[in-house]
Amino acid sequence: MTTALEVRLASRPKGWPTEDNFEIAEVEVPTPAEGQILVRNVVMSVDPYMRGRMNDVKSYTPPFQVGAPMDGGAVGEVVTSNSPDFQPGDHVLHGLGWREYAVVDARHAVKVDAEVAPLTAYLGVLGMPGLTAYAGLLATAEFKEGDAVFVSGAAGAVGQIVGQIARLKGASRVIGSAGSADKVKHLTEELGFDAAFNYKDGPVADQLAAAAPDGIDVYFDNVGGEHLEAAIANLNLHGRVTICGAIAQYNDTEPAKAPRNLVQLIAKRLTLRGMLVGDHRGLQPQFIKEVAAWIASGDLKYSETVIEGGIRKAPEAFLGLLKGENTGKMLVKL
Ligand code: NDP
Repeated sequence: MTTALEVRLASRPKGWPTEDNFEIAEVEVPTPAEGQILVRNVVMSVDPYMRGRMNDVKSYTPPFQVGAPMDGGAVGEVVTSNSPDFQPGDHVLHGLGWREYAVVDARHAVKVDAEVAPLTAYLGVLGMPGLTAYAGLLATAEFKEGDAVFVSGAAGAVGQIVGQIARLKGASRVIGSAGSADKVKHLTEELGFDAAFNYKDGPVADQLAAAAPDGIDVYFDNVGGEHLEAAIANLNLHGRVTICGAIAQYNDTEPAKAPRNLVQLIAKRLTLRGMLVGDHRGLQPQFIKEVAAWIASGDLKYSETVIEGGIRKAPEAFLGLLKGENTGKMLVKL
């Protein structure tokens, strides 16, 4: 193999992205220098935050460059190693997805074990989305036993874990919202949520009020906009909100119309706190220990939507993620 495929940003989207914003290019397989490894990617992640990186705006991660390959989480097999820390055949987690072959600095690669967990899990439940759920609920929202918890995007990679951790840690009630009847059924019948609703069926505030007759103490926000407004309306005194994502707004070209009820923060003494998973690396050992044990005991389940067909399918998978075509973590098998 001397050439391989990579996905580049062809142009910056205005509003919803399309396949035209991506370009598949054939490139020479690069040669690793001293301290580097050549990795054949096996599975790559598509994540909502990548939508923000398609825009030319300053943020916590730099924007993708037009004409350059995109990047993101991936797991692959080491083909050639110029580092004493890795052998050919090792599996590694690294940040150069969106390409079939990657040359990775050994210090930026983390060895993962396919015997301990499926390789896909290192990009989902045991990876960045899992830690986001764990840290966002326990550290950012300061969840405590007896809290009633509402999570939006509940059937997604982060949301499915938030709801289950809340249940396992003694929430009085766990409520989720998602975008289809099948997802709602999955939440209550498979993942043990006490209640769930399809946010497309009617006003979120009304559906949440019906699902949480005693109100909510914690809201884990993956969506923003109307969901956040509904949560503020239904939060109890001293309620806490983790602002994790705002996917309802990522393709907007106009400022969001909601929430319009921030004044309620005063009387209810609510706390809304933003979070970034990168700030919570210190929780990694505790997170892995607890979540891996729950998976092993069968107490915590997780879904993945793995798109087959190789790198050419990656743009389609990413667009599908934004439209809610995934249940659990959206991944592309290369
Ligand atoms: P998901 O697996 O949840 O996939 C995205 C989901 O968003 C879709 O499946 C879709 O599900 C839902 N969605 C799309 N549009 C809307 C809409 N208009 N209203 C409501 N839901 C919508 O992604 P992740 O679990 O990876 O990420 C979830 C959130 O967490 C994102 O906002 C992401 O940006 C954020 N995040 C933040 C991190 C941080 O450090 N702060 C780290 C990781 C993720 P449905 O069918 O239900 O509509």
